[in-house]
Amino acid sequence: MKYQHLDQNGKPINLPVGKAVCVGRNYAAHAKELGNPIPERPILFIKPSTSLVLWDSTVGIPPKSHGECHHELELAILIDKPLKNASSDEVIDAIAGVTLSLDLTLRDLQTELKSQGHPWEIAKAFDGACPVGHWLRLPSESWLKNANLELKVNGEIRQRVSTEWMLWSVVELLTQISQYFTLEPGDIVLTGTPAGVGPLNVGDFLTAKLDNLMTIESEVNVFE
Ligand code: ZN
Repeated sequence: MKYQHLDQNGKPINLPVGKAVCVGRNYAAHAKELGNPIPERPILFIKPSTSLVLWDSTVGIPPKSHGECHHELELAILIDKPLKNASSDEVIDAIAGVTLSLDLTLRDLQTELKSQGHPWEIAKAFDGACPVGHWLRLPSESWLKNANLELKVNGEIRQRVSTEWMLWSVVELLTQISQYFTLEPGDIVLTGTPAGVGPLNVGDFLTAKLDNLMTIESEVNVFE
């Protein structure tokens, strides 16, 4: 089914489906685990609207022949007003929702392309590379600074962090992004993954939590 933004009750949100702007290395411990230095400015990349899929009872990954596909659990933000060179106040006003998302990454392919100095687009922007949960209303501005994310794979905690450990807070990140990319209504922003990324396999059972606001339980299968 074609992706559309859905609210907490599964009702369509009246916004188009745009791009996803993503940030690499927004948590120091994750930069370290992949042997990357901590960047001076956010490392930004884009997933196209065709990469978005609803994250509910299943997560589809590419076939094994594409190499390892890693989970990157991230807090996602839905935008409902244009943001260009935006101020903090404008950013806050443009946040239409928050949810959990997976920045699925073909890690073997990405590592190979990175080592050759090539863009690693296909490792991150393929169809289905961005499962997105149902959107919740932003509880409050301060909530953004201490939201807790957790991902269990087959009952074991793999990723757990508070957004207080971000190198750039959500608001800082959105203001910085808007200096390079205009954010339009219906675009989303993925705010970076904490440490603990690892491969997914068909049959894995995922339990993802956003504070006590949201739990997504899903099984991994092959993306169709
Ligand atoms: Zn990521």
